[in-house]
Amino acid sequence: MKLSGKTVLVTGASRGIGAAIARCFATEGARLVLVARSSEVEALAASLRAGGHEVEALQGDLTDETHVRAAIQLCRSKFGGLHGLVNNAGLLTPGLIGMMRLEDVRRMFEINVIAAIGLSQLAARCFPRGEGGAIVNIASIAGRSGMVGMSAYSASKAAMIGFTHAAAKELGPQKIRVNAIAPGFIDTEMAQQGGAESFQKRMASIPFGRIGRPEEVAGAALFLVAETGAYITGQVLGVDGAMTV
Ligand code: NAP
Repeated sequence: MKLSGKTVLVTGASRGIGAAIARCFATEGARLVLVARSSEVEALAASLRAGGHEVEALQGDLTDETHVRAAIQLCRSKFGGLHGLVNNAGLLTPGLIGMMRLEDVRRMFEINVIAAIGLSQLAARCFPRGEGGAIVNIASIAGRSGMVGMSAYSASKAAMIGFTHAAAKELGPQKIRVNAIAPGFIDTEMAQQGGAESFQKRMASIPFGRIGRPEEVAGAALFLVAETGAYITGQVLGVDGAMTV
């Protein structure tokens, strides 16, 4: 098993990509701390525990710094520390530039950027000294090439790509690897936002001819967190069916 003996914190694990990462990492032997606002995160943790996995859940809003600290504290108190962090929790509020509300922009940045940076800061302090750890930020193709009707979301994901590059350089000497995944169009609740017409348009723009599965993003996250990614840092791995090439 690729993550045996490792503790990983996964945010936004109540559904979609985060839940797929949690299931994948549990199967690979990781001890997990899962965070999201809704009770589904507790339900997923309970079902994984019933399957014999070591999983804790924290129901909380990560835009509140108290919950950011509580998530890291849970890793320490239940599992004695942390080896990996997946910053997956995210929010997309679509809106054309002329129409969007700054309140929505702030909310997106609070969860997509500030919570992820706050967690990375605390995780870096928590990784075993001399051994390091791995951080994976779930960004987006929107952060690489921009998407119409998603300018603020694109900006927040580009911010996480910038953070990934800088943090990889800064934390490299501590053996902390920081990478990002840029998913294309993945079959989750978020992909349904924007209505049927926008869904069909985006489907038509995928050279691979189909939408991605959350499990396919989870496989990429596993590759980056596990020993397979030991010399990989500061990279942005596209999981997008050739949408960005
Ligand atoms: P999703 O189904 O909407 O899931 C988002 C997750 O984030 C949920 O578990 C949600 O849980 C959690 N979350 C949102 N706000 C939170 C907050 N304030 N505090 C704690 N948890 C919060 O979306 P998804 O498609 O799985 O997206 C996962 C990540 O992939 C996101 O960062 C997204 O931007 C990125 N992504 C998705 C796609 C796609 O096509 N689906 C493409 C590119 C990138 P609660 O609601 O229970 O809090």
